[in-house]
Amino acid sequence: KMNKNLGQHILKNPGVAQAIVDKAALKQSDIVLEVGPGTGNLTVRILEQARRVIAVEMDPRMAAEVTKRVQGKPEAKRLEVMLGDVIKTDLPYFDVCISNTPYQISSPLVFKLLAQSPAPRCCILMFQQEFAMRLVAKPGDPLYCRLSVNAQMWSKVTHIMKVGKGNFKPPPQVESSVVRIEPKVPRPQISYDEWDGLLRVVFVRRNRTIQAGFNSTPVMNMIERNYKTWCAQNDIALEDEPSGDAGMEDMEDEVEEQEDKQIDVDDDDDMPSFLGYEPKEDVKK
Ligand code: SAM
Repeated sequence: KMNKNLGQHILKNPGVAQAIVDKAALKQSDIVLEVGPGTGNLTVRILEQARRVIAVEMDPRMAAEVTKRVQGKPEAKRLEVMLGDVIKTDLPYFDVCISNTPYQISSPLVFKLLAQSPAPRCCILMFQQEFAMRLVAKPGDPLYCRLSVNAQMWSKVTHIMKVGKGNFKPPPQVESSVVRIEPKVPRPQISYDEWDGLLRVVFVRRNRTIQAGFNSTPVMNMIERNYKTWCAQNDIALEDEPSGDAGMEDMEDEVEEQEDKQIDVDDDDDMPSFLGYEPKEDVKK
């Protein structure tokens, strides 16, 4: 019996399962993290090529299935099943990740893997096809989005193969794709939060210019607030701080002008939320 919320679609085509494992180009010395082993179709193939497998499975019945599958065999000693939600689990060291991913955790899983230190050598992951296409999209592509830019900042992402619904039991609603993610080593030396915050402004609305994102009052207020905090933390005096009432008025006029330009009913949707951005406070002003 399948648990629908856990995205349990068992890969029934042995050729596809073998191809996924082969694409990881495993070394006999590798420790492999597998997310959601299910009944173990990928797990047994990984065990043939790697030193050890750490399989994180949320469903106790599935964890029991995969354990049973290797029971009494020599590879049982090389398989460790961790019961729990992979997103909430502190992961031990691994060289490679292989996963026929439960699609509802696609995005958090990608960023958890990219945040891993030391970085895994590569990740071979099956995703819903549209998610995979977003990961690999390039500028100008209609699917190019915050996910594309973020993933490609921290890793090299390549599309490996499409996998039709019929290869799964039960078949999912949508087609799937396998991608390879190779984290960049060393990591780009920037703050993840600042970079992600920038992307949230840049991609605040579909089909808008980058400038439009920055021109909204909440974003401007946020940038100003963050700048002041940064100055305070770094002992930098604010040179342009208006000294008298007149100066204050000038600034208010400027802000109002900006607001006039920005009358757009859609503007409140999907606003960026990061680094102390508080929508309620801004609305009151
Ligand atoms: N690897 C198997 C295969 O390819 O046949 C099963 C893949 S199935 C798409 C996804 C598996 O991930 C299921 O066994 C499900 O119970 C498990 N799962 C779902 N959410 C999870 C989570 N947050 N953490 C760990 N495992 C999860």
